[in-house]
Amino acid sequence: MFKIECVDHIGIAVPDLAEAKKFYEDMLGLTCTGEEVVAEQKVKTAFIPTGEAEIELLEATAPDSPIAKYLEKNGGRQGIQHIALRVDDIEAALADLKEKGVRMIDEKPRYGAGGSSIAFVHPKASGVLVELCQRKK
Ligand code: ZN
Repeated sequence: MFKIECVDHIGIAVPDLAEAKKFYEDMLGLTCTGEEVVAEQKVKTAFIPTGEAEIELLEATAPDSPIAKYLEKNGGRQGIQHIALRVDDIEAALADLKEKGVRMIDEKPRYGAGGSSIAFVHPKASGVLVELCQRKK
């Protein structure tokens, strides 16, 4: 069995990371904790802690990035691309969901920003793109 612990973060697709950060930092007084290029997912991310769930800003690093595809569908405007739920055991979560016949994008955990293990559930399962995320201990 696995357990959902909390909403870990909300992923927002943006056309320009530096520009998007300004709102959270300059207007809301939040601080970005670092940026990282995740080559495998063709994204550049920045995490912004809010006290509970974090905001993850995502910029495409290639034309075939999922973020580029999202922006294209969304008329070039930034918007919520995924929500991430933190799990205590991602391997157990994947095994359990597979057994229940839940359609997954990832059958195995992969590398996520900050060294977390992540896997995406297909949006057909719930109408939104859900990321399962196990934080590095
Ligand atoms: Zn994410």
